[in-house]
Amino acid sequence: MIKDKYDIIVIGGGHAGIEAAYASSKIGCDTLLLTMNLNNIGKPSCNPSIGGTAKGHLVKEIDALGGAMGVLADKAGIHFKMLNKSKGPAVWSPRAQIDKDLYPKFARNFLENVPNLTLAEGQAKEIIIKDSKVVGIVLNSDERIYAKAIVFCSGTFLNGLMFTGETISSGGRFGEDPSLNISDLLKSYGVEIGRLKTGTPPRIFADSIDYSKVEIQTGDDNPLPFSNKTDKVENKIVCYQSSTNQRTHDILKTGFDKSPMFKGVIQGVGPRYCPSIEDKIARFAERDSHKIVLEPEGLSTNSVYVNGYSTSLPESVQIEGLKTIPGLENIRLKRAGYAIEYDYFPSYQLKFTLESKAVEGLFFAGQLNGSSGYEEAAGQGLIAGINAALKVKDKGDFSLSRSEAYIGVMIDDLVNKSSDEPYRLFTSLAEYRLLLRQDNADIRLSKYAFDLGLIDEATFDRVNKLKDETDSLTKYISENKISAEIANNYLSSVGESLVLGSTDLASLLKRGAVTLEDLLVLKESNNVFSARAKEQVQINSKYEGYIKRQLKEVEYFSENEKKRIPNNFDYDKVQSLSAEARQKLMKIKPSSLGQASRIPGVSAADLSIIAVFLK
Ligand SMILES: Cc1cc2nc3c(=O)[nH]c(=O)nc-3n(C[C@H](O)[C@H](O)[C@H](O)COP(=O)(O)OP(=O)(O)OC[C@H]3O[C@@H](n4cnc5c(N)ncnc54)[C@H](O)[C@@H]3O)c2cc1C
Repeated sequence: MIKDKYDIIVIGGGHAGIEAAYASSKIGCDTLLLTMNLNNIGKPSCNPSIGGTAKGHLVKEIDALGGAMGVLADKAGIHFKMLNKSKGPAVWSPRAQIDKDLYPKFARNFLENVPNLTLAEGQAKEIIIKDSKVVGIVLNSDERIYAKAIVFCSGTFLNGLMFTGETISSGGRFGEDPSLNISDLLKSYGVEIGRLKTGTPPRIFADSIDYSKVEIQTGDDNPLPFSNKTDKVENKIVCYQSSTNQRTHDILKTGFDKSPMFKGVIQGVGPRYCPSIEDKIARFAERDSHKIVLEPEGLSTNSVYVNGYSTSLPESVQIEGLKTIPGLENIRLKRAGYAIEYDYFPSYQLKFTLESKAVEGLFFAGQLNGSSGYEEAAGQGLIAGINAALKVKDKGDFSLSRSEAYIGVMIDDLVNKSSDEPYRLFTSLAEYRLLLRQDNADIRLSKYAFDLGLIDEATFDRVNKLKDETDSLTKYISENKISAEIANNYLSSVGESLVLGSTDLASLLKRGAVTLEDLLVLKESNNVFSARAKEQVQINSKYEGYIKRQLKEVEYFSENEKKRIPNNFDYDKVQSLSAEARQKLMKIKPSSLGQASRIPGVSAADLSIIAVFLK
């Protein structure tokens, strides 16, 4: 039964909507999650995977803040891998293949059991706004539902158009209707709208692959879960790798004259870091091969996702090209790849809470903010859901800074640098990435989650225990020594130079090849401390110099964040600002000198002028 009034309505049951609805319900708001099809809640529109570089960090942060994505990915996960293990710990990133059918099933089931949350199937055709303030929605059935705040998470559905070669159809994604009307309505309230594009590869039948010609990709030996609430995860499938060749490229080129992208039929810009195969062939003409990964889409489906072959070329060209790839000579196509073009709202129009600057009480989260990716959407959904709930309860704002979380980096980038191409998070975008590791997300964020009511006391206690244990272990290694004889036996076995006398563990641990585990074994105290405490201490010790430097940089960063710029600051009065800086500052209205410094086009000279004026 749907009521006619809620505290909060979340429109859209994608990854953003799930987190928004879950967070606002947990904060105690009577929440309605309205979505077009309840069986498609959290459906992976494209790649059946969660996590990856920087995205895995986001999932861990969402989990630390009490969100759902980590738990769902662990449950639906079928192949787990920690990426970038050969590099430093700042960039280790967990990733999992998920079962594309189980994930939405688990997501729906999970949300159905959340107190204060109602799930409903339907389409919002209008957002009711009075005096620039949100009041409610109108459904396609003309039913009106009222709310104090709305979180809008419509993904790729707004005026969505799908393209395969010269075939164009209207839809939010394969097999689903688009969402019409709302963009135009918001435009009439002064909200700027743009068009973006993304695409997906074909799916092929698993039994049509010749597995003797492809390379196996296995998951990790002892895979780790995303969520602190999951004890154990298991690898249930393997993936396979192959590659395109010059023949593939020659065949695909024959379809270029029918490509909606190359013919300019698609106007929206696509994700630069997730290019289509035709884009790769055109942009990197010198390369005669591109990697293809064959990813099974689940345990009870015979569908395989052809990662690396995203395309909107005509279906016949897609098939012909696929058949030139080793192992795919006899494949049968399950579904052709396609591109989708949709409306988005450039995100400079948002506050850090993800509330619209133009319409009070209207929060935006996910792909419609110009981002791309499930994890980016989920991170935004969580922040929007929290802030919508805080607004309803008149409890202020919640945001995370760039020095605290990847979620903070992402939202800061979206608000300050909203661009005309889909935004994707990378570890290189985080200035303080040695502090924002995936392994310490709960240590960084649990206090916020607990204060907001997003995690329970037992979870918070576990994190505090870990912090205490890490402190005791840090103390233990600085206070305990090993005799020169025992130390040297070990040091020579790992190829390190010898010591002259008994040496404390902390000093020995600084050596490249020395591990904390080995040192604790030598002290017969390896079973005293947990694996997580050991991991924290080892990373803190090995990277101590860099970590200290980043902490110093954060101090400087925080100083500038504290220098507030009033919302009514009149940039027109500051004569000596450059024209570009004035225009950008007036558009974004930064709330601090720190934020102003991150707006492209605002120079160091502009900043000093503002600083003087503020004084
Ligand atoms: C073809 C395709 C290819 C993609 N390729 C990639 C890729 O290569 N890489 C990548 O990172 N991401 C890709 N994506 C994007 C990825 O799907 C999104 O990043 C992610 O799903 C965004 O989550 P979201 O919650 O914002 O929206 P979605 O997951 O799209 O969910 C939107 C939800 O809103 C609901 N909805 C919409 N309008 C209304 C309405 N008016 N009333 C009620 N409910 C409504 C829909 O039913 C849906 O449940 C692709 C998406 C598509 C469709």
